[in-house]
Amino acid sequence: MIALAPETSRIAARARAVDVLAAGGIETAALDARILVEEALGVTATDLALRGEAPIGPEGAARLAAFLARRAAGEPVARIIGAWEFWGLPFALSPETLVPRPDTETLVETALGLGLRRDGAHRLADLGTGSGCILVALLSEWPRAEGLGLDRSPGALRTARANAARNGVGDRAAFAAGDWAAALAGPFDLVVANPPYIASTIVDGLSGEVRDHDPRLALDGGSDGLDAYRAILAQVPPLLAPGGHLVVEIGYDQEAALRGLAAAHGLMPEVRRDLAGHPRVVVMAPRIAT
Ligand code: GLN
Repeated sequence: MIALAPETSRIAARARAVDVLAAGGIETAALDARILVEEALGVTATDLALRGEAPIGPEGAARLAAFLARRAAGEPVARIIGAWEFWGLPFALSPETLVPRPDTETLVETALGLGLRRDGAHRLADLGTGSGCILVALLSEWPRAEGLGLDRSPGALRTARANAARNGVGDRAAFAAGDWAAALAGPFDLVVANPPYIASTIVDGLSGEVRDHDPRLALDGGSDGLDAYRAILAQVPPLLAPGGHLVVEIGYDQEAALRGLAAAHGLMPEVRRDLAGHPRVVVMAPRIAT
């Protein structure tokens, strides 16, 4: 257990937090310590800079000690504070939602680059919306677009709805329970999904930070990792408006599999890479009959 005296200053507490996390083998000790101190004490970076000598008090000491113990035990910062940033926007998390990943910003960028007009009244659907991060990011960029987020988990839908409201797009977003696109009526200009795409046997071998803290339902893509894509590619093509696109995130080794599935469903695939150079996003559009 980490003991912190209530009279410890904010600055000293942050230094102590860095030491505790570094000693616990956390590579991002400095960054994590800053976020956890701000959250535990309810202060901003400015408060820390301008009033760093103020004591943390008994409550602050207890909260920070508990946060540091959880982080040192391998719990991700996003889970501890129940929030994370995506596309520069704040998102609340719940046990039913994945922590938004930077990789997924490649999907948002790809969608924004499809040529849809910024002020168009586009109709969007996000399958397996989770925290709602993809849909909310897109609605924040397209001020007249409207979107539907689907998820199997009622807890995720509550979280996504709250995230849409918090980011000012709640009046243009609706959320509903659904198994991929099964209950949807089109047409949609854009359907996006970051479905679970990890093979069941691999999920158990993932790092503890992911395996023990992200919801299994959000990771496990069945025996070969492709179950969700099979369902989505079977359901979505008839729902697309003329000129509409389906855009999905994939695992780094799933490009060939997705090209095969796309071809089998009469879709033309285009693959985009993430910042690390891995195939990460597939854009699909119905092949135009000639
Ligand atoms: N769409 C959500 C996200 O990108 C959830 C993804 C998932 O749970 N597989 O974070």
